[in-house]
Amino acid sequence: MSFKLEECVYRGEGKFCISDYPTSVEVDKGEKEKYVQLTEENTARMAELQDKLYAEAKEGVVILIQAMDAAGKDSTIKHVMSGVNPQGCVVHSFKQPSHEELAHSFLWRAMMHMPQRGYLGVFNRSYYEDVLVVRVHDLQRGYAMPSRCIDMDSGKFFEKRYRQISDFEEYLWENGYRVVKIFLNEGKEEQAKRFLARIEDESKNWKFSEADMKERALWDEYQKAYEKAIGSTASKHAPWYVIPADQKWFARYLVSEAIVGVLKDIDPRYPEMPADQKAHLASCKQQLEQGA
Ligand code: ATP
Ligand code: MG
Repeated sequence: MSFKLEECVYRGEGKFCISDYPTSVEVDKGEKEKYVQLTEENTARMAELQDKLYAEAKEGVVILIQAMDAAGKDSTIKHVMSGVNPQGCVVHSFKQPSHEELAHSFLWRAMMHMPQRGYLGVFNRSYYEDVLVVRVHDLQRGYAMPSRCIDMDSGKFFEKRYRQISDFEEYLWENGYRVVKIFLNEGKEEQAKRFLARIEDESKNWKFSEADMKERALWDEYQKAYEKAIGSTASKHAPWYVIPADQKWFARYLVSEAIVGVLKDIDPRYPEMPADQKAHLASCKQQLEQGA
């Protein structure tokens, strides 16, 4: 098996077709141990790099995770982030917008939850919901906004949003942020299996809701919305990682590779102390050793 992260990165070059990206890859069961081990090594590396990112406080990172239900968003976050220091990490889940959020423009809540530079921010779902669930259900039709903003065909409305998102991500890049965009690409059959597991195992019942079935019925519409959103917003600085998600352990490995890759590229370093402060430290050391 030689599937590499690079095969799931889309940087906006050429046309994006979701069907070109697998939901599952052939990985020998015997190789599972190896990938679990590699994920652990990445987790440790992530912790080292995050410590430096925090100390340097020059660049911020947002890891956003999008997926259909039961694709493993929560468990990916739990596993992949297990090594990082919570002090330098913030996680936010994007649920149905509140009245206050809906009374603002759609990127407002993303901005409100941006981590400060030096932090890792994890977005469980994100502002992409505003071109996914909103598109699939045509929710913009019900928004309290002037007709010039919403009275147009839905294609045009979302073209504008893709542009606004691309501009927003460029703004973030130009202001010291990286956005790591992860789509956990789950197959429809795999989703059915996981829903069944949630129904059959009582301890998992709480994870399942009737609404999940309604969204599943709109599978093809969601795939189209994802295809358009990914195809229109990937760029060199804010690429999409379309991660095959049917084998959770392999998806976790690829996500950890993506995050470590970005952190390595940032190459954070502990701040070096200016010479006069170093001299001061030497003097303090001397005083302490002399019993001060
Ligand atoms: P789980 O996997 O545990 O179900 P979840 O992320 O699906 O987690 P839920 O509380 O079930 O969490 O669902 C949140 C819902 O909010 C999703 O259906 C999502 O599509 C919806 N949502 C998020 N952002 C928006 C938005 N801007 N407009 C409308 N709905 C939104
Ligand atoms: Mg849900």
